[in-house]
Amino acid sequence: MSTMVKTCYYEVLGVTREATEDEIKKTYRRLAMQYHPDRNPGDQEAEEKFKQAAEAYEVLSDRKKRDIYDRYGHDGLNSSGFQGFSGFDDIFSSFGDIFEDIFGFSSSHSRSRTAGRAGADLRYDLTLTFLEAAFGAEKDLKIRKSVTCMECHGSGADPGSEIRTCSYCGGRGQVLQSSGFFSIRTTCPECRGYGKIIVTYCSSCHGSGKTTHEKTVHVKIPGGVETGSRLRLRGEGEDGEFGGPSGDLYVFLSVEPHEFFDRRGYDVYCRIPISFVQAALGAKIEVPTLTGAEKLKIPKGTQNATQFRLKGKGIPHIKGFGSGDQIIETTVTIPTSLTRKQEELLLEFAKLDKK
Ligand SMILES: [Zn+2]
Ligand SMILES: [Zn+2]
Repeated sequence: MSTMVKTCYYEVLGVTREATEDEIKKTYRRLAMQYHPDRNPGDQEAEEKFKQAAEAYEVLSDRKKRDIYDRYGHDGLNSSGFQGFSGFDDIFSSFGDIFEDIFGFSSSHSRSRTAGRAGADLRYDLTLTFLEAAFGAEKDLKIRKSVTCMECHGSGADPGSEIRTCSYCGGRGQVLQSSGFFSIRTTCPECRGYGKIIVTYCSSCHGSGKTTHEKTVHVKIPGGVETGSRLRLRGEGEDGEFGGPSGDLYVFLSVEPHEFFDRRGYDVYCRIPISFVQAALGAKIEVPTLTGAEKLKIPKGTQNATQFRLKGKGIPHIKGFGSGDQIIETTVTIPTSLTRKQEELLLEFAKLDKK
């Protein structure tokens, strides 16, 4: 491609001579996408434009080459040894990152493997009593998780045995596969992306680099949690691979119902039976709360299903200060068996009531 007359690199990309690195990169990405051989199969013109854009980008994105080009033009570059590209493979392997961004070619395998893959998150389901959920609790959770093998420190190889660099991919973990114009990086089939080949496996983990381990995790549950609340314990998940970060442990909470109290947000609700005499004449009664018995005044003439509110006797707010209220609803009870004397008195009452 270097035999033909060269077009100015700035013109190829359609940018000014003052263009920033960022502008150049953006413009190139746009052109690469437009003229990508996969989008223009068999189109000679698109192919040529794609190659020209790649060459222009190669020069203008490199401070040193751009400087030579600015001063001495194409000839300057040629005498400095710049060859351009021999073909698509060359282009793809030079600008792998850009094509990944554009087309989502994933080389995440090799990348995350060499950079260390994060460990898996774990889930633990924990049931709390009503009061534990209301006021908080501390629990010890027994977690089975896979951790880095102590014997081989996660390499999977028998300690002291040889680990060879994969000859198929040269240790890169990836190979470039071409079909026609189209090239993709794929995970190396020989080493499955690890870039290394283990000769003798670790006898303790059989090459996986991991062993299972039971661990006790102490967890503090704040007051005010409810069914569906989730706690995240950072780093308490499974160990990462090759020095990658550990996963997290998620504790999913569910709360047992209380025999007496119902939860409504941060308020607790309960029903208290009172006699029809207490309802009519008024009374001072004791009611249970989450923190012990409290006195409650029932005024004269209280009706069935009247609600009273005890301020601050509910569930503590999970964030910040204060608590919800306790709501007490009266249930007026009617006696089902009366003595003769009681009946007489009620009949007397009825006569008076009619007047
Ligand atoms: Zn390989
Ligand atoms: Zn091992």
